[in-house]
Amino acid sequence: MQNLPPLLLQGLDTFVQLRRDIHAHPELGLKEFRTSELIANKLIGWGYEVTRGLAGTGLVGQLRRGSGARRLGLRADMDALPIQETTGLAHASRHSGVMHACGHDGHTAMLLAAAEYLAHHGRFDGTLNLIFQPAEEHPGGAQLMIQDRLFERFPCDAVYAMHNMPGVPQGHLVLVDGPAMASSDDVTIHIRGQGGHGAMPHRACDPIVAASSIVMALQSIVSRNVDPLKTAVVTVGAFHAGQANNVIPAQVTLELSVRALDREVRDLLEQRIKTLVQAQAHSYGATAEVIYKRDYPVLVNTPAETELARAVALKMLGPERVVTHGSPLTGSEDFAFMLEHCPGSYLMIGNGAGEGSCMVHNPGYDFNDDNIGVGAGFWIALTERFLGKTTDQEAHP
Ligand SMILES: [Zn+2]
Ligand SMILES: [Zn+2]
Repeated sequence: MQNLPPLLLQGLDTFVQLRRDIHAHPELGLKEFRTSELIANKLIGWGYEVTRGLAGTGLVGQLRRGSGARRLGLRADMDALPIQETTGLAHASRHSGVMHACGHDGHTAMLLAAAEYLAHHGRFDGTLNLIFQPAEEHPGGAQLMIQDRLFERFPCDAVYAMHNMPGVPQGHLVLVDGPAMASSDDVTIHIRGQGGHGAMPHRACDPIVAASSIVMALQSIVSRNVDPLKTAVVTVGAFHAGQANNVIPAQVTLELSVRALDREVRDLLEQRIKTLVQAQAHSYGATAEVIYKRDYPVLVNTPAETELARAVALKMLGPERVVTHGSPLTGSEDFAFMLEHCPGSYLMIGNGAGEGSCMVHNPGYDFNDDNIGVGAGFWIALTERFLGKTTDQEAHP
C-alpha cells in the first residue's frame, strides 16, 4: 500500500460502503438532494461549519485551525448521468435511467474520507474549504456556485480537484501543466431553403445539399485555419433533415461540438464557423442561423499550484506511480470555471484495469474503491503541506 496514514486505512471500509450507498442512489445534476444531505450531516458530525444552498444542492464544509491566514479549497462533484446501469453489481443504481457512470460517487467518498481524518487528526494551520458541487455534467454547477459568490464567501488561495481516469493504472496520479482540458462549445445551425418535390429540384432550394457542403467545408477549419501545432476539434454530431425520399425538406439542423485548448483558438473557431456557414449557405441560395453557445472554458492549471501537487504526489506515491507531466485531454470539465477565479490544479487518478474499468459514461463503468484511500491520502497530504506550519519555503511557493 502507498504511504498512507494508518488511521486513514483503519477507517476506509466505512467510506467504501458510503461510496456504494451513493452509487446505489444516484441523482442528476441540481437534484442531488439525498447526496447533499448525507454529506452535510457527515461534515457537521465531524465539526465542520457547513453552508448549504450554493447552486441549490451545493455546499461548503469549512474547518479552521490555528491562526494561519492561508486558505485551501478542495472540490468534489456529486452528480450522476442519465444512463441505465448494466453492471449487475450488488450496489448498482436503484434509480432507473440514472447512474454514477463518471465516478463522482467516488470523488465525493474520497473527499469525505479525507474530511473525517483531517477533522480528527489533521495537522494544519489555516482554513480548509471542502467544496461539494452539483451538476458537473450539466449544466455546470461550478459556475452556478461562483455566481452564488463561492469565492467571495469562501476565499481560497488555491483550489484543487481530482477525477478518476480509466485506462491509467489504479491509484497512479497524473499532473498536467497549463491547459489540461479543452473548452467545449455547443453550436446549433439551422439551414433553411425551400421545400419541394424530389422529382423537381430546380423548383426548390435544397438545404440538404447546402448542409452537406457545410459539413465538408467545416473540416477545413481544423486542417487549414488552425495552427498545426495547436489543438482543435470540430465534430458534427447530429444532422437532422427530411422524412421521405421524394420530398425536399425546407430545413436542416446541425449540432456541433467544438473544442480547443487555447483561448485564441477557441475564438478563431467561432469566427471561422460563423463566416464559413453563412458563405456556404448563401452560395446555395439558402439561409443559415448559427446559435453559438459557449459552454465550459479551457481548464488551465497554474504552475506553482501544480508543482506543489506534483511534489506531494511524488513524496506519497514515488516516481513509479506518478505521471509528472501528463498530456492534456480534449474532454471538458466545469472545474475550469473555478480555475478562472482562483489558482489551482486538476489531477487525474487512474481507475485501473479491473472490473468496471471501461471508459466513464459507459453503462458498465464503476469507480475503483481502492482509490478512496489513495485519493483521500493525497488530499490529506496536500492539506498538511499547503496549510502546513512549516517554514520551509518549498512548502509555500
Ligand atoms: Zn462525466
Ligand atoms: Zn466526471
